[in-house]
Amino acid sequence: MDRQVDLVIIGAGPAGMAAALYASRAGLKTLMIDSSAPGGKLLKTYMVENYPGVPAVPGPDLAIAMYQQSVSFGAEYMYGEVEKITKEKQVQLKDGTLINAKAVLIGTGAKERQLNIPGEQDAIGHGESFCAVCDGAFFRNKEVVVIGGGDSALEEAQFLTRFASKVTIVIRRNEFRASDKAQKEVYENDKIHVIKRHVPKEILLTDGKVSGIVLENVEDHMEITVPCQGVFPFIGHIPETSFAKDLGILDENGYIVTNDKMATAIPGIYAAGDCKAKELRQIVTAAADGVVASTEAFHFITGI
Ligand code: NDP
Repeated sequence: MDRQVDLVIIGAGPAGMAAALYASRAGLKTLMIDSSAPGGKLLKTYMVENYPGVPAVPGPDLAIAMYQQSVSFGAEYMYGEVEKITKEKQVQLKDGTLINAKAVLIGTGAKERQLNIPGEQDAIGHGESFCAVCDGAFFRNKEVVVIGGGDSALEEAQFLTRFASKVTIVIRRNEFRASDKAQKEVYENDKIHVIKRHVPKEILLTDGKVSGIVLENVEDHMEITVPCQGVFPFIGHIPETSFAKDLGILDENGYIVTNDKMATAIPGIYAAGDCKAKELRQIVTAAADGVVASTEAFHFITGI
């Protein structure tokens, strides 16, 4: 069934939900579409400590609060997988539904980057996971390996020590990329061990389940095997923008290029949050992008 709305928002993460709140409160007929439950990466975040005005809160709780507020002025949430967006602001879903909108806001975020090493495709779901909050409890009293040295890796490693008997963090340089606070917590945690200057080479499976990971020293190329039952890569993200590839609004890495009003080169099409080319990817910056984008969409639609 075809739908007609003022603003269609693709993605119901912090960017999309903040945009839906502002747009619907300003009187726009607003539809949010997501191929998952509302919340985006908040649903995979154990604890949020840096959303202004909100003391430490579990990510899923913040997601629920944002969602409830985002639909409280009449915005609608709909499950759907977007196949394509046209310059005429028609959004086509994989189930054939067409949504005609006066403006489109893309807030689809980014998905976890995979290691792309032998064994990985068999390991995913059988010991390899990209979400400590979702799967950490499966690793009670087990040994796990976390790959990456950014804030995600260190925070998730810290969380995994609630369950795992040992957490080994593997980084390819001598230094972490994460904040000093996250590094301090890692070094103070007896359950966490760090292996520096190594990269993952292969995930080993026994009877269909992860049983170890082979690491290569980046200097002398010597290999070591770390026995483990879980592998958690946190090595960055890839933007979820494939449905927009024909629009000519992506940079060489697939991120959507906008101006500081979140407008793309196509009038009436906006982008907000982690799917957009920018420096700082945080919950609060995603929400702020969403607010700027929906305000611009309001001006575009109403001419005010
Ligand atoms: P980052 O890009 O910050 O870190 C990625 C890590 O993965 C780096 O240590 C990088 O190594 C490593 N890496 C990348 N590719 C490979 C590879 N092929 N093999 C091995 N290691 C690899 O990503 P994050 O997801 O951690 O963070 C993204 C953004 O979100 C950051 O700005 C971060 O600060 C922010 N964030 C903030 C949080 C907070 O404020 N509480 C929580 C989580 C994230 P190298 O350093 O050598 O390049």
